[in-house]
Amino acid sequence: MNHGKVTLVGAGPGDPELLTLKAVRAIQSATVLLVDDLVSDEVVALATPQARIVYVGKRGGCKSTPQAFILKLMVASALEGHHVVRLKGGDPFIFGRGGEELEHLRAAGIDTAVVNGITSGLAAANALGVPLTHRDHAQGVILVTGHGKQAGLSTDWRALAATAHSARLTLVIYMGVTGVQQLQSELLTGLPPGTPVAVVQDASLPTQRFVKTSLDQLAASVSREKITSPAIIVVGEVTRAAAQSAGLPDIAVDVVVPRRRHR
Ligand code: SAH
Repeated sequence: MNHGKVTLVGAGPGDPELLTLKAVRAIQSATVLLVDDLVSDEVVALATPQARIVYVGKRGGCKSTPQAFILKLMVASALEGHHVVRLKGGDPFIFGRGGEELEHLRAAGIDTAVVNGITSGLAAANALGVPLTHRDHAQGVILVTGHGKQAGLSTDWRALAATAHSARLTLVIYMGVTGVQQLQSELLTGLPPGTPVAVVQDASLPTQRFVKTSLDQLAASVSREKITSPAIIVVGEVTRAAAQSAGLPDIAVDVVVPRRRHR
């Protein structure tokens, strides 16, 4: 039988210029594309006109496609001989269920490959113009989900915040804006109220904007500036320099950089 294959491709944070050459080649050779919500149209437009494109996110107000259906479709299409490209926002292995999908595909005997993408946490840091590991301020960086529970496990925020403080680690929080009030309270159990924080919405896209604030003002700033998902919250001293590099005065609280979405 003519076996196809599945390539999990990182589509990056949105700007098509941030795709890797490998990603572009994979998209162009795909005969079936399964596209996640946060993948921009310009990226999908690289597919050939013959490719079958299936949107599996929440576009158009529909509920997202059940994961079981996505897995089934990938396996069935590959077995028919298709080159299936699973396009995922950012990097497929950072909070994208890429790992689960790969396990399932391997168990079904499907040939697989993975192409890295620029994860949105890194694009957010670039939007702020700050290095996440500036050696004057941080020894390292933690990528963490702000979703209360991931696979039934809840994050020990007290321990995480205390460690970030004592070990001088920058926190890059994905999926954090929806439950930002709770997140703020949790982080305050281990980090000082004045800890500088920046929140970046739509990193790398023309609609990109950010708010710079402090931990004790985080939820209020997000709500006042109507920052919505997708957004990344960066917590730590490295964000103090953000406004300077955006050409704004270095004040600690509530600087909103232009390029706002007008609604
Ligand atoms: N695999 C993706 C993350 C998927 S989880 C990656 O590597 O980036 C979805 C979360 O990613 C969103 O809730 C948001 O926190 C973040 N995200 C994705 N795209 C973003 C963007 N352009 N700007 C800011 N955050 C983004």
